[in-house]
Amino acid sequence: MSLRACHIPLTSWGRFPVATAEVLRPARQSDLTWLVGERVYPSLIGRGYGRSYGDAALNSQGGVVEQTYLDCMLAFDETTGVLVGEAGLRLKDILEVFVPRGWFLPVTPGTKYISLGGALACDIHGKNHHGDGSFSGHVEWFELLAADGSVRRCSRTENPDLFWATAGGMGLTGLILTVALKLRRIETAYIAVDYVRTRDLDETLERCEAEDDRYRYAVCWIDCLATGRALGRSVLMRGDHLAKADLPAHRRAQPLTIPRKLEVAVPFSFPNGVINPLTVKAFNTVFYHKHPRAKSGVVVDFDSYFYPLDAVLEWNRVYGRRGFIQYQPVIPLETSRATLIKLLEALSQAKIASFLAVLKRFGPQEGLLSFPMPGYTLALDIPVTDARMFAVLDTLDEIVVNAGGRVYLGKDARLKPQHLAAMYPQLPVWQRIKQTIDPENLFASDLSRRVGLTPVARP
Ligand SMILES: Cc1cc2nc3c(=O)[nH]c(=O)nc-3n(C[C@H](O)[C@H](O)[C@H](O)COP(=O)(O)OP(=O)(O)OC[C@H]3O[C@@H](n4cnc5c(N)ncnc54)[C@H](O)[C@@H]3O)c2cc1C
Repeated sequence: MSLRACHIPLTSWGRFPVATAEVLRPARQSDLTWLVGERVYPSLIGRGYGRSYGDAALNSQGGVVEQTYLDCMLAFDETTGVLVGEAGLRLKDILEVFVPRGWFLPVTPGTKYISLGGALACDIHGKNHHGDGSFSGHVEWFELLAADGSVRRCSRTENPDLFWATAGGMGLTGLILTVALKLRRIETAYIAVDYVRTRDLDETLERCEAEDDRYRYAVCWIDCLATGRALGRSVLMRGDHLAKADLPAHRRAQPLTIPRKLEVAVPFSFPNGVINPLTVKAFNTVFYHKHPRAKSGVVVDFDSYFYPLDAVLEWNRVYGRRGFIQYQPVIPLETSRATLIKLLEALSQAKIASFLAVLKRFGPQEGLLSFPMPGYTLALDIPVTDARMFAVLDTLDEIVVNAGGRVYLGKDARLKPQHLAAMYPQLPVWQRIKQTIDPENLFASDLSRRVGLTPVARP
């Protein structure tokens, strides 16, 4: 058996860094078994649709196993809502089939162009983390192709160590083959959204603390360039699935169908520097003032509420050829206010502009390397410019570590290894499981070597 590999420059969503890699696109599970069993490459990493931002799905020292052809829906139980799909199945395809039947994803990120395997490997969070936890909390079981060629079924009761090491384990425990995910019942394809504009960080945090739990979904857009008394001013966008009875009359005939949308794409890479403090300030001012002080019960289709950025395909090109980094830390509740102020002030002083800045509150989380913890997470899209920008992000890491927080490995492209253990205190437990399941570190990525999750050179 053989499988053709493309030797190509590869990036993920941030288009930074670029790795020249051997990319394989197997179409059968037996191809995966062969790749692993025959040790065709010194190392392998699974990949879905490359919607992680940095180098989690890159492997310049071996093969990248893109599982996008392994994307079948295998079974669905109408009584429990459990869908079994191959790891390459996209959330977009699940939505297209199941929303019209009255089912929704239990957790979804800000894009639907991701795979079940990628969702589990990053243990993704959505706007409902404060109440519903992350993706792994809704996974009944999954199958993993391990380094010894065996297929392990993992759940909370079967191979539980491997379950918790794989959820958030960044693809480093093996290739995820299938995932059994419990979907959520919905009556309509619409969300009732309450918008609130806040004056400053104190009002933002006070309202999140006091009110977020009333909503299934809660997220804030934050003006990261506002300074002084306006520091932390935000627009809170919180909502829940709309009941059929509350749907406007003209939508009641087809409650689970939303109007079709025109898909547009950014046709080419913009020149470097289009996203800069001036353009971001102009955007932020317009966005902030466009929203009224408060507006309740706005009916928004699920696509517009959860995936506004997906409306423009390949929007990452606006950051130019150098690409961008999404810097996403989470700060524990006790230290969040003071730390968020430090982070926002440091960014503002360094004149680092984030076109997109999102703040949200997390609840508790299991998973040895899962990113969320009770506290606030801030997500910032930062254009790659020069060494100074990387130095500023290193300073932000210090602030985050000192506050007991961590950065999201699924978005990371530049974290230094010295911070990993402090950010992820369950790391030794994860490492013991990794050592047992993959003693030769067959599964490794540019991220894993950079941050020290696997050794730099294989023994
Ligand atoms: C616009 C946008 C918004 C986003 N919003 C959020 C958000 O709100 N919350 C959030 O948590 N994330 C968010 N993300 C990040 C994204 O959801 C995750 O990075 C997700 O893992 C990407 O899935 P993918 O299929 O593209 O995986 P890839 O990017 O290809 O891979 C991501 C990781 O999963 C591993 N992996 C993928 N498939 C397999 C497999 N079959 N077996 C083993 N390992 C595998 C890879 O090795 C890698 O470590 C967002 C990304 C974008 C572009």
